[in-house]
Amino acid sequence: SAASLKPLLPGEATLGVMGGGQLGRMFVHAAQSLGCRAVVLDPDADSPAGLVAHEHIHAGYLDEAGLARLAEVADAITTEFENVPAQALARLAERRFVAPAGAAVAYCQDRAAEKAHFGASGVACAPYAVIESAADLAAVADSLLPGILKTSRMGYDGKGQIRVRNRAELQAGWDELKQVPCVLEQMLPLALELSVLSARGADGTVVQFPVQQNLHRDGILAVTQVPAPAVSEALQQQALASAARIATEMGYVGVLCVEFFVLQDGSLVVNEMAPRPHNSGHYTMNACDVSQFDLQVRAMARLPLRTPRLHSPTVMLNLLGDLWFDAAGAERTPPWDAILALPGTHLHLYGKTSARPGRKMGHLNITAATPAEAERLAREAAGLLG
Ligand code: ADP
Ligand code: MG
Repeated sequence: SAASLKPLLPGEATLGVMGGGQLGRMFVHAAQSLGCRAVVLDPDADSPAGLVAHEHIHAGYLDEAGLARLAEVADAITTEFENVPAQALARLAERRFVAPAGAAVAYCQDRAAEKAHFGASGVACAPYAVIESAADLAAVADSLLPGILKTSRMGYDGKGQIRVRNRAELQAGWDELKQVPCVLEQMLPLALELSVLSARGADGTVVQFPVQQNLHRDGILAVTQVPAPAVSEALQQQALASAARIATEMGYVGVLCVEFFVLQDGSLVVNEMAPRPHNSGHYTMNACDVSQFDLQVRAMARLPLRTPRLHSPTVMLNLLGDLWFDAAGAERTPPWDAILALPGTHLHLYGKTSARPGRKMGHLNITAATPAEAERLAREAAGLLG
């Protein structure tokens, strides 16, 4: 079993990753910092991770020759995005240790399966109904409206979601989504949003980062703050315990992000999960003594998982492609010199060759001695970015 596998040693192992986006790139950097070789499989010649890996297998995710090459060179394999085809992970698992396993990733690919897993883990999510047929649609309880209709598969950054107030809008929304399988969730009165990053080892050890408080704009993560400024200690403990149960219940190995809502009545509800490091965990690169990417490397290499310690209060600002355009729409370079002159700023750019509005180009971590100082510097940085 995985638990009895020997650790892969720093300086010797080759670690593979399916997907070449920014999460893959930061994973590659973490693997390389332990002297490991890193190999990326991604169809895009300019993929951010492929550009920095020892080897970029330039192939589709189901390409047999590409998968065979990855299994040949990598001692262990992970994924940087949840929509990697389950068959691809199953194929790789015939020859190599794959973490997280395809079965765990499959829960995260389907909102209905994901919510069923939350229930099985004893963690409450929003009241919902699965809609796969006209009969399902007709049977929806009135109490779920107003609600949010979400495609069961392939949604991200608020895409594939329609807010519906009544049955007529529900019908129109489902038509607009081409009547693909969906879940309808009751619209909840949110006070704020949180996430928890856990890493679980093949031996069942779970370590966790502190709770993150997240602010989204237009469905995309904009700001993460740690420590979470508006969340009680009791609620943080509840979120951490819930996330650990969700990971353990599916025998998960690797880094898992679980997103939560805090409702206006102060209760906690789980939203969704991602089977990988997460945008809301990027602050760990500069504010913790071990990053989410370091823990992904350790988990897949069966190296000791260390409980992360937050050493600096921090604010993370996502840098979207919008910042690469001025008010008149002309391309510009954001004022990096002024940003880097601010105390506590750590700039991470993903090496993407072209900027588009809404595209994740990088992030800025701002660390300080106190939460108030980190917030003040973050406001100053945001002002400079414009
Ligand atoms: P995505 O996969 O796009 O991140 P989410 O399910 O996390 O999709 O939804 C995106 C955002 O929409 C959430 O971060 C939250 O702000 C809002 N949202 C989602 N579901 C609900 C809900 N049931 N009630 C209120 N707001 C919601
Ligand atoms: Mg989300």
